[in-house]
Order: sequence, then C-alpha cells, then structure tokens
Amino acid sequence: MRLAPCAPVLARPDGTTQVGTSVPVRLAALSETERPVVIAAESTPIGADECALLGDAGARLAEAGLLVEEEEPPAGVVAIHGAGRIGLELGSALAACGITVAFSDRRPAHDEPGLYPRRALVSTCAGGAAWSVRERLPRASVVDASDPTLTVLISLGGAARHATAAWEHDGTPHLLIAVDEAGATVGPLVVPGATACGRCLALERTAVDPDWPLLLDQLSGRRPRPLPEIVPDIVAAASRLVIRALRGGAPSNEAWRIVLGGAPRPAPVSPRADCGCGAAG
Ligand SMILES: [Zn+2]
Repeated sequence: MRLAPCAPVLARPDGTTQVGTSVPVRLAALSETERPVVIAAESTPIGADECALLGDAGARLAEAGLLVEEEEPPAGVVAIHGAGRIGLELGSALAACGITVAFSDRRPAHDEPGLYPRRALVSTCAGGAAWSVRERLPRASVVDASDPTLTVLISLGGAARHATAAWEHDGTPHLLIAVDEAGATVGPLVVPGATACGRCLALERTAVDPDWPLLLDQLSGRRPRPLPEIVPDIVAAASRLVIRALRGGAPSNEAWRIVLGGAPRPAPVSPRADCGCGAAG
C-alpha cells in the first residue's frame, strides 16, 4: 500500500495532519508510531505490518481512496498504425504509463523529415518511432506489432475499409483517429459487434454525401501531417480511451472532435442497422 500519487502529507497549525489537497482527509493527533508511517507512505510503499500500525487513520485514508494498492500498468500490446507525429507522441504517452507499444508504418523514415532523431539508424517510420520512444524512455517496452491486444489507426479524412477489415473479423478492438484540415476526430474505440465501427461511420457519411466511398478510396494511403499544436489534444483523448479499454472499461461509442484553438468536444457516434456489424442490435 501507499498514499495515492500526488497526495501530500501536510502539517496544520493545530497539530493535525492533512493528507491531500483537493478532497483532503484531516487526521487528528497521530501517535508517535502512526505519523512516520503516514509520512513514509507518501513516497514509498508500506507493508501490511506498517499499515496495521495506522489503525483508524489507515481506515479513513483507505475509505477516502488516499491509501491505495500499488497499481500495475495496464497489460497488453497497443499497436499504432501510422508512426508519424501523432503516432509517435501517442506511443510515447502510452509507454510513459508503462504500456507496451508497437508501431506499424512501412513508409520510409525520410517521409517525416525532422521527426525522428538524426542518428536513428532506421529505414521506416515505424523504426523511427520505436527508436525515438526508446531514446526518450529507456525503460519503455516497444515490441513487434504482430500480436496486438488493441490497435490504433491514424488516417487522413477517414479509415479506409480495408484497413480495419481484419480487426473487425477477428474482434480486435481498434481506436480510429481521423485527421482533417479543420482538426481531428478521436474515436470511437471500436469493439467489433459492440460499438459503431468504421463501416458504420462510412455509411453515415455516405448518407450525407453519396460520393463519399469514392473519396475515401482516394484518401487511402495518404499521410496526415497535422499542425504540431493540435497533436497534444489528440494524444490526450486517444490515451484516455486506450487506457480505459485496457483496464476493462465497457465498450462505448464515445468520440471527440478536436479543432485548432478550441476545447475538445464530445462527438459520439451511433451504430447503423444497415452495417451488418451487429452493434445496432
Ligand atoms: Zn458497423
């Protein structure tokens, strides 16, 4: 056990001890044995024997969610398809959370000038992103993309039908990120048969513009190169959806619309009965 991250132990003038700053717990008159244990738990894990020493104070902290078990990083491999700026930054963010990542992108590394370290001895964008993440985070786990738990597809304009077909078939959850000239849409994190899928989205778009399938075909293989300043919001929304799914969160049709200079806003999607994916029931 240990105190929740970022829950400081503070001394108040009246002699009480406060743990936390947002929804704090105030502990009156800690004993000579209790106080050092609370202070130690701020920075290091404490064992069951030390926890027992805390008595009522420990129970109050645990009840408030301030005394917690050490949490393991979410298990699984997240394979990111598209190792440009968004893929690289998303991979770094997930790796920093202890999540194993993989990159898939066969385009030559010189397609992304200035993105990977100059000394990166790599030929592909996937290699460049893997190199960059390992260099930023020496303890990062970056593996081969062949056996993912969850995948991420970063596309320009929309997900090509062929790009997600295998994941829909074998039931692999996949997060769709579509970048366009006005911003990006992050989500849904498709759980085949349970949420709207890429085909549902394409059908929705086609209902508005019957030529959309032809346009989507033309977008296939084109590379999104967003303004760097929009990337952090994309990465934040994507990381949250991925981590929630890896931690066993329920499937959701949640998606977010991100525009330059604006706050991200919800843009949920709906499964379509004419898709055939089964998500509409
Ligand atoms: Zn569908």
